[in-house]
Amino acid sequence: MKVLIVEDNPEISTAIGVSMQIRWQDAQIITTHLGERGVEMVETEKPDVVILDLGLPDISGYEVLKRIRLFSLVPVLILTVRSEEDDIVKGLEYGADDYMVKPFRKLELLSRVQALMRRYASFQESDEPVVCGPLSLNPVSGQLVISNREIKLTNTERRIVHHLMRNCGHVVTYASLAEAVWGADYPDAANSLKVYVRRLREKIEEDPGNPKMILTTSGIGYYLAKQD
Ligand code: CA
Repeated sequence: MKVLIVEDNPEISTAIGVSMQIRWQDAQIITTHLGERGVEMVETEKPDVVILDLGLPDISGYEVLKRIRLFSLVPVLILTVRSEEDDIVKGLEYGADDYMVKPFRKLELLSRVQALMRRYASFQESDEPVVCGPLSLNPVSGQLVISNREIKLTNTERRIVHHLMRNCGHVVTYASLAEAVWGADYPDAANSLKVYVRRLREKIEEDPGNPKMILTTSGIGYYLAKQD
């Protein structure tokens, strides 16, 4: 297992690296304090997971994330001192898989990294397309096809759609959706999901204000209409 840490505070990256090597003895830790270099290292080193600081000396962590997502679906966990909800939502919209706010507990970081890698691995194994009515999703590439129209989804959108499609025609609660997307303990999941579902509807619905595919069951969750 290879972990890339993009972090300009050497104390933090050393502490994370040491605790990972205690937990996973064969873990290979690679680090950089520069965002540009981090993007390059995702390409050349092919890490299994990336831990990304937002405040970096050259380019911002958001920019790093955006560039990584142009070519890689590697799981990215944002590590940030910013706790404002907007910053976090922005990070998740740019394709981060999880985030933690500094100061953080090392044990919690390790278990989140483990959960991320497990989810990522199970995605890569299940490469059978999932079908629900006119929708067909390739869970690996994130390519969604709706009656011959191809739509590219972000990592998080792909997880949402994947979970909805596996429960085709049945209501999925906010909690179960949040767990499928971020792991169990995501704070304020219903509101974050709302942001994603709005964007998803803009991508896939003919009239996003009057959705026919992703339907809301108020106060409970969402479901994909089982259409013919
Ligand atoms: Ca920093």
